[in-house]
Amino acid sequence: MTDFGGALKKLSEHPDYALAVIGVPFDEKSSFLRGAAYGPAAIRRVSTGKCYNPDTELGVDLAEETVLVDLGNVDTSGDMLKTFGEIERKVGEVVAKEAIPVILGGDHSITYPAVKAVAKHYQNLDLLHLDAHTDMYEDLYGDRLSHACPIARILEEGLVKRLVQVGVRSTTPEQKALGEKHRVTTIEARTFPENLKLEFQNPLYISLDLDVFDPAFAPGVSHHEPGGLTSRQVIDLIHNLKAVIVGFDIVELNPLRDFSQITAALAFKLLKEIAGRAIRPRD
Ligand code: MN
Ligand code: MN
Repeated sequence: MTDFGGALKKLSEHPDYALAVIGVPFDEKSSFLRGAAYGPAAIRRVSTGKCYNPDTELGVDLAEETVLVDLGNVDTSGDMLKTFGEIERKVGEVVAKEAIPVILGGDHSITYPAVKAVAKHYQNLDLLHLDAHTDMYEDLYGDRLSHACPIARILEEGLVKRLVQVGVRSTTPEQKALGEKHRVTTIEARTFPENLKLEFQNPLYISLDLDVFDPAFAPGVSHHEPGGLTSRQVIDLIHNLKAVIVGFDIVELNPLRDFSQITAALAFKLLKEIAGRAIRPRD
């Protein structure tokens, strides 16, 4: 049963929801392996209340203290531009209610239209990007909408005021230069400090690429990049966040590479912990 640890409510009974899951079964912009399109189904499947409860580590009860609904999947049956338009429209509907979109990818290309929609509503938006990669290629093999490029598009369109990238351990001189040009804060995996406390002044969107974790913790991703963060480090980072979270995505789950659904379970764990932080911010 897909019920997000028992936290899921019926949309028909709760039109004024606070958090809305949106699945994006899309992997056409993956440069290496396909499979991320199966991500939303895998996260929903693993999230059963038979296995998990709706309580976060910090004691937020997602069944009692908020209203989480599932809006289903974005229609990805058309061409890529239509899919991106659908993402923007569906995310836009959620933020128009001042509710929090919880976007399940899909490959990382979907973050560009998602952030576009959120930035339309929140003119001053900050972005926390957790990833092994900076995803700031100008283009990849001539494709400017590749899953290696969403952050470049977000920066060049000025969609966010401040960008902090965490967990990076694979980049290029060109991407580093672009990051410097846009005054991006980069906290690389090799210098990740214990007890990192990040604070954001503006409404915050979080984009979590599951390859930010070491492949030992998250094998179910398309690009294995050793030397990554532990589950504990990322969960602690979320707990220590001082910010108003207005939306987030969890992308790049590739169930075809997962073992015993452990990466899907980690994705669901992060969904819970980020949702808990969103509804009960740190003092
Ligand atoms: Mn990425
Ligand atoms: Mn990545």
